[in-house]
Amino acid sequence: MKIISERIRTLNESATLAMARKSRELTAQGKDVINLSLGEPDFNTPDFIKEAAIEALKENYTKYTPVNGYLDLREAISQKFKRDNNLHYTPDQIVVSTGAKQSIANVVLSLINPGDEVIIPTPFWVSYQQIVELAGGSCKFIKTNLENNFKITPQQLSQSISSKSKLIMFSSPCNPTGSVYSEDELNALAEVVAAHHQLMVLSDEIYEYINFTGKHYSIARHPKIYNRVITVNGVSKGFAMTGWRIGYMGASKEIAEACTKTQGQFTSGTCSIAQKAAKAAILANPEITTPMRQAFQKRRDLIVTLLKEIPGVKCNVPEGAFYVFPEINSYFGKSYNGKTINTAEDLSMYLLTESLVAVVTGEAFGDNNCIRLSYATSEELIIKAVDRIKNALQKLT
Ligand code: PMP
Ligand code: GLU
Repeated sequence: MKIISERIRTLNESATLAMARKSRELTAQGKDVINLSLGEPDFNTPDFIKEAAIEALKENYTKYTPVNGYLDLREAISQKFKRDNNLHYTPDQIVVSTGAKQSIANVVLSLINPGDEVIIPTPFWVSYQQIVELAGGSCKFIKTNLENNFKITPQQLSQSISSKSKLIMFSSPCNPTGSVYSEDELNALAEVVAAHHQLMVLSDEIYEYINFTGKHYSIARHPKIYNRVITVNGVSKGFAMTGWRIGYMGASKEIAEACTKTQGQFTSGTCSIAQKAAKAAILANPEITTPMRQAFQKRRDLIVTLLKEIPGVKCNVPEGAFYVFPEINSYFGKSYNGKTINTAEDLSMYLLTESLVAVVTGEAFGDNNCIRLSYATSEELIIKAVDRIKNALQKLT
């Protein structure tokens, strides 16, 4: 009898975290690795947020918290949904979790029965597929490509829906492509969802504040489907708070209660101190996120320009998040030192060992022709990294 369960043996390690781990290992060996693998802002958490955490400690917020989060934090999130998204979620429709990742896992575990289908546009964020499969669901992927800016059409969505479809999940701004759906595009997709009463939507809006189009729109605004949308968000990206582990969701009361029950058996309420810090972040004027967004946009422009100078590399212009997802399949079939590059995974490993640049293979995001680079790092390192990539690619014959 095998020690490890079938469920976990078939689960893939998160490719983003795996590459970050490999990069750290090489750095510990004294290698000068540039890590473009992990999607995490290189900024520090703003001081006023840290002060709120210190205050919480001093006031002895050190005990177990309510499973769905402190009421004052859920009230703050309720105000934020109204202020930024024009969405009405009362505090009992909100569940605070240990990161948006846990919010997503709670939703999927609470909604999906074995055999249910979850529609996922590709490329998708690495954990979606694994979480759905862990719940016994099956993924139905909708293919997109660089030519259509990695966005699905209402027709594609309509064609992918079957009697087993229960949920569609996607991120906008998207990790890994940076694509952003406009209000019109989301409303058109919402109309398709509206016609299928069993279908729900998980809208992952974790990159809301890193949106270069100037407008973020939530699909839950569409009145016909408001009750069937779960809006997931968090403080990791917009406020540079990845290590604090706070995410949240707004949904119908029924779904929120189910997610609270799920969370109550896994982790209980999330960290008391981090919740108080998150409240300060969420109640602040969102304009405090502007300097970070502007820095990301400048880096986006830089990395896209540099990548487009490399022969055979194609790339869209991301409208949000902090990733580029260039197509690199023109290098497949080429070799170096007797080793042939056949896949995006081979190319990522080649870039790591030959040029000491850590990127993530597109395969983990459901697209075999691309690699993902996170540009949440300094302009100096971006220039150095792309230069190294260019040199390594030139060596392939
Ligand atoms: N969704 C997407 C699209 C992401 O890129 C991430 C990565 N952090 C998450 C959810 C999870 O974020 P966290 O758990 O840090 O809130
Ligand atoms: N979401 C980030 C990424 O895609 C962090 C890693 C993770 O949570 O998997 O790189």
